[in-house]
Amino acid sequence: MRLSRAFLPTLKETPAEAQIVSHRLMLRAGLIRQTSAGIYAWLPLGLRALRKVSEIVRQEQDRAGAQEILMPTIQPAELWKESGRYDDYGKEMLRITDRHDREMLYGPTNEEMVTDIFKSYAKSYRDLPRNLYHIQWKFRDEIRPRFGVMRGREFLMKDAYSFDMDYEGAVRSYRAMMLAYMRTFQRMGLRAVPMRADTGPIGGNLSHEFIILAPTGESTVFYDAGFESMDWSQMEFDSSDPADLNKFYDLVTGLYAATDEMHDTAAWEKVPENSRREGRGIEVGHIFYFGTKYSKAMGLTVAGPDGTPVVPEMGSYGIGVSRLLGAIIEAGHDENGIIWPDAVAPFACGILNLKPGDAAADALCEQLYAALPGEAVYDDRPERAGAKFADADLIGYPWQAIIGPRGAAKGVVELKRRATGERLELPLDEALAKIRETLA
Ligand code: ATP
Ligand code: MG
Repeated sequence: MRLSRAFLPTLKETPAEAQIVSHRLMLRAGLIRQTSAGIYAWLPLGLRALRKVSEIVRQEQDRAGAQEILMPTIQPAELWKESGRYDDYGKEMLRITDRHDREMLYGPTNEEMVTDIFKSYAKSYRDLPRNLYHIQWKFRDEIRPRFGVMRGREFLMKDAYSFDMDYEGAVRSYRAMMLAYMRTFQRMGLRAVPMRADTGPIGGNLSHEFIILAPTGESTVFYDAGFESMDWSQMEFDSSDPADLNKFYDLVTGLYAATDEMHDTAAWEKVPENSRREGRGIEVGHIFYFGTKYSKAMGLTVAGPDGTPVVPEMGSYGIGVSRLLGAIIEAGHDENGIIWPDAVAPFACGILNLKPGDAAADALCEQLYAALPGEAVYDDRPERAGAKFADADLIGYPWQAIIGPRGAAKGVVELKRRATGERLELPLDEALAKIRETLA
């Protein structure tokens, strides 16, 4: 993309309404535009990053054996009356009446709908286990939408739903999703800590929230240093092998992790002193086993091996895909702007032509630009160098290729790594090789 023709609007001023750094940077770097309270339009840069995040989520769901579907945003009220949640949900639900006076709603989640769909096809134990997911917009009429995409009213969520014949099966499905989540966040360059969460009336310990470590996070967390050093995405656990799942689960839950409220000082004492970490975090995911709550209410049964009807055990698994964009920026920024992890950066490289019109500089920029199809933004604007540096730091390309007449005459590119500030002077082919190393 050539900046002279692109729609990549950046703001110099800090928008007054934005209280946290990710919201400020998302507005200033031109990722999003608020269209009404808690509702955002995604501009080209933001949309590219959102797509990269969604794609990693999708790949890890697929790898864990879940299958993607796409359910609608608009749902009929009847489904929610069947489960009994229509009245319980209260004012967070956006209720709509169509022209025939039918009660509809904009889905805040999809347990009812997915159970209803699955019910139409699943007849016997052979149809289980299954896990269905989609990545779809949700609407919750939050009383206080704030912090940009972190707490929006319309937001993008990945929600998966598992169906199993018995409790043991549901536990396997739960652990497979947990593994998928650890891999997903690791691939995005994030450190995630799973926290035991409240299961309400169902009891047991099968509910975890996933907290991303970020110095500006909302909640205090206590965790084992193992969460900083382990690379879950590299560990060769097979999520269809129960033994592997147990190994993974023991490993991950063996590491201490607690929020402020759940913190157990007696257990904390047992963590070696040099492994104790205290930090701040943001919730980006929540997984939950809820037994037969929806299958029972909505009449989902399948025939067991001996013909007797069985009510499947279910779980649901959410990731706040659009919230993740905010969390990624909370975890990666400095006073000049965003520092994207390579895997989710909207573009890998910004090419900064310090003197458009200089034949050598133009030629070298064009060469580099052509060699990075779809991954480079070419700043060919007739702006001063300072403005280009500022915009590139703000947008946060992992690499900046700075090309001026002097270097260009020697065929040399100055490569700056956004995350470390490291600068290298390299011939074009070596610069390209460096950039390509970090492309997914
Ligand atoms: P919260 O306690 O933050 O309101 P929740 O418990 O209502 O979250 P879930 O119903 O578990 O959230 O939804 C799954 C995920 O969707 C959450 O972990 C979060 O990442 C995301 N999410 C929930 N509400 C919002 C929102 N208003 N804006 C953006 N993302 C959200
Ligand atoms: Mg909520």
